[in-house]
Amino acid sequence: MAIIAVFNQKGGVGKTTTALNLLAAIAQRGERPLAIDLDPQGHLSHVFGARPRHAEETVCGFFLHQTPLDDIAQITRSGVVLCPAHLDLAKLDALLGKSLNVVLRLRQGLRRPGAAPGTVVIDCCALLNVLSLNAIFACDLMLIPVSCDYLALASAREVERALNALEPVLKRRLPRRYVLTRYDARRKMSEDIIVQMAEVLRPEEICGTRIRENVKLAESPAVELDVFRHAPGSKGALDYTALLDELLPVLGGA
Ligand code: ADP
Ligand code: MG
Repeated sequence: MAIIAVFNQKGGVGKTTTALNLLAAIAQRGERPLAIDLDPQGHLSHVFGARPRHAEETVCGFFLHQTPLDDIAQITRSGVVLCPAHLDLAKLDALLGKSLNVVLRLRQGLRRPGAAPGTVVIDCCALLNVLSLNAIFACDLMLIPVSCDYLALASAREVERALNALEPVLKRRLPRRYVLTRYDARRKMSEDIIVQMAEVLRPEEICGTRIRENVKLAESPAVELDVFRHAPGSKGALDYTALLDELLPVLGGA
């Protein structure tokens, strides 16, 4: 089992798009991955068709009432098992605090026998809150989407600083990969960001795969589909297949 957390402190960089389509790419290969939606806005849950009415039926139940993850998990049309989010997740910082035993809760939940037989992908929100800390402490690999703009790169540097600051607690350098999203070779800014990324981040931690700007990726949530079901031959489907291929060897040892 490998656990990937998709995180960036900026909104709109492609975290949910990346989580959704990586999960779908894994499911395409016959595995049944587990999606954990840790964003109170619940976009990932929404695209997967989940509309939970009660907070207890979502990851809120796991964090607040120790409900096992398998009890809140549901199977989606994409062949992905989903632990959905709820708006009440926004209250967890105030309710739980950020003590070590709280930020380790997801790690412990996922390591329970049978909780997650396959790959796990966690979709985080754009805050370094108690939920994102849980994702950081649970994951084997942090995947940081960086859309091709200056503010997204500035946020990536903040993520880098935050992860480095946590290193003494994690007792290791957390494996991480930065992936460029919304890449458009015709825009000068895209090339500028590539150059600057290589200057401010470790080059070996930047994915060779770039997720291109692709209208099919932007459309697919509107029809509640991942890109493989919406437009299997699209650039979006090709790019997320390539990203999974690139990440698999990194996850191999996890
Ligand atoms: P985040 O989860 O980081 O807030 P999203 O994944 O929701 O970001 O993406 C923000 C918006 O950008 C969405 O409308 C999404 O459809 C669009 N988007 C993301 N990646 C791409 C892409 N490669 N090409 C075109 N649109 C994209
Ligand atoms: Mg999102």
